[in-house]
Amino acid sequence: MSAINTNFLSLERNYLFAEVARQVREYKLANPDKSVISLGIGDVTMPLPRCAVEAIGAAAAEMGAADTFRGYGPEQGYDFLRDGIADYYRLRGVELESREIFVSDGAKSDLGNILDIFDRGIVSLIPDPVYPVYLDTNIMAGNKVVYAKADESNDFLPMPDYKIDADVVYLCSPNNPTGAAYNAAQLGMWVDYALAKGAVILYDAAYERFIKDDLPHSIYEIEGAKECAIEFCSFSKTAGFTGTRCGWTVVPDALAVGGVKLNGLWLRRQCTKFNGVPYIVQRAAQAVLSDKGLKEIDVNIDYYRRNAQIISGALCDAGVEHCGGKNSPYIWLKCGCDSWDYFRTLLCGAQVVGTPGSGFGKCGEGYFRLTAFSSYENTLEACKRIKSLYRKI
Ligand code: PLP
Repeated sequence: MSAINTNFLSLERNYLFAEVARQVREYKLANPDKSVISLGIGDVTMPLPRCAVEAIGAAAAEMGAADTFRGYGPEQGYDFLRDGIADYYRLRGVELESREIFVSDGAKSDLGNILDIFDRGIVSLIPDPVYPVYLDTNIMAGNKVVYAKADESNDFLPMPDYKIDADVVYLCSPNNPTGAAYNAAQLGMWVDYALAKGAVILYDAAYERFIKDDLPHSIYEIEGAKECAIEFCSFSKTAGFTGTRCGWTVVPDALAVGGVKLNGLWLRRQCTKFNGVPYIVQRAAQAVLSDKGLKEIDVNIDYYRRNAQIISGALCDAGVEHCGGKNSPYIWLKCGCDSWDYFRTLLCGAQVVGTPGSGFGKCGEGYFRLTAFSSYENTLEACKRIKSLYRKI
């Protein structure tokens, strides 16, 4: 009998982005004269908004003075930020109590850690393709994974299948990698499904601020969602916090499984295994959610939106079928061949890096993801190269 968690042995050998980085490194070593532009990994390039930088400075000064220094904070976040997040939801007509909001060091940790409060071996319904963390964390936990296929036939937005009895359902809207986002009626169908099956929706809203159309930003805009959904959100992409680390998770009071409230379980889990987000970072996050802060981050988001439009325009010119880019920073294109072959074609032929769709799930095969997170100049140059490559092939 092995003492290790052998579920880890069932994981794919390489994490997608590590493999992309490895292949790019090899290419650069072999071609030191070529300049490579990345429209690949989903990291931001715009610096932190002014308001966040100022808040960090002020909080650092507080931490350096004996009478304002703070040690351990509340595991679930300082009230000033939990209240700020509740106010942010109120802007969309969603009423939450601060105690339903848990400040985190980003959505990724909580999306993985949330499985602590569920049984081992549960049935997890996971969209395909999607952010790989959902799948990998379920494999690590030894859960049974069932896929909800996202393809052209459903506009990359899988809908409930009542033949499947899921315990948890992952929804990511706007979706990484396809950029597809659910409307209220579609989310309503997922809420109906979860309520009928006693399933819990794990709703990843990390890209909600990119939504331009009249679509829900939070699952709690849908009636009944507080009884069946946990929501994860992040300052990473909206406010440039990928390196600063802050996000939040909402576990509504009304959410119970088998009569047990999940809010209490998550509080217990966090108090045991998590010691909170740095005070300095929470002050920065609070500043982002102020009126001034929201205006500042929207300027950055508009910058990325313009990049997305440039990419989409270039793909149209090159006659490449694609979607996304409107309500998300991701453009999902049909490459018409093996995703990794396309990756190498783009890298070697245009020195542009993207992400093979197959890395996000089986249904991603034949597709490719480009992101709008590069600089404007690099995006323009990459698009020029892609168009020129298509003229040659
Ligand atoms: N959820 C999705 C869909 C993502 O694409 C990402 C990051 O790329 C995350 C969550 C992780 O966000 P964070 O930086 O807050 O951990």
